[in-house]
Amino acid sequence: MLLEEVKINVQVIKSKRKSLKMTVKADATVLVEAPEALAEEKIKEIILSKKTWIIEKVEQRLSLGPCYNQMQGVENEKLLYLGRQVLLKIQDGQNNKEQVMIRNGQLLLNLPNATPENCVATIKKWYYQKTKKEVKFWIHYYQHKFDKCPNRIVIKEQKRRWASCSSADNLNFNWRLVMLPTWVISYVVLHEMCHFEEMNHSAAFWSLVESHMPEYKKAKDWLKENGHRFLPE
Ligand SMILES: [Zn+2]
Repeated sequence: MLLEEVKINVQVIKSKRKSLKMTVKADATVLVEAPEALAEEKIKEIILSKKTWIIEKVEQRLSLGPCYNQMQGVENEKLLYLGRQVLLKIQDGQNNKEQVMIRNGQLLLNLPNATPENCVATIKKWYYQKTKKEVKFWIHYYQHKFDKCPNRIVIKEQKRRWASCSSADNLNFNWRLVMLPTWVISYVVLHEMCHFEEMNHSAAFWSLVESHMPEYKKAKDWLKENGHRFLPE
């Protein structure tokens, strides 16, 4: 089904649910799970009555842009930095210097021998550094709430997760973290620091997180809905 005027893709599936559930997925399609007994006409009516909500959600999804899980290293590529879209602008090695900077919504890359592969490698290296800087900022910010300090902070490739904490109090973070909005990054860091005290995801753990960040659920939900757009398939 297509919500006519706005061309939004709506997929309806019947299930054993008691009530109708609507989700706007990361790719901006709408999934409607409807009870088997509910008539088509009625389903359509409910969907139309939620049109404003749907359009708002879809626009939110689209404003994040496409998936960011595969960097191409090409001119005008859309990249993300702290949750904002930046356009990649490549200069081929002026002064024989390697340089990456953010200016006026652009990620300026100056690189000798700027092949797509070299561009990707350099931008990735830059993301590692920026993630480390951002993570350190938030650790420092929350440190007074905890008795323990992280033993080691490692930024690394993690294909399925954003961060992890080992029993030796080593904190690991995904190098892609700095692509996310700041309020999500701060949650990810705080979450790992709370594992200093609770090494699990028990109710006690979540109430500890909540005591330090009352609105943490917003960030947790954001990651659940959008996180996969940044991670490799
Ligand atoms: Zn955890």
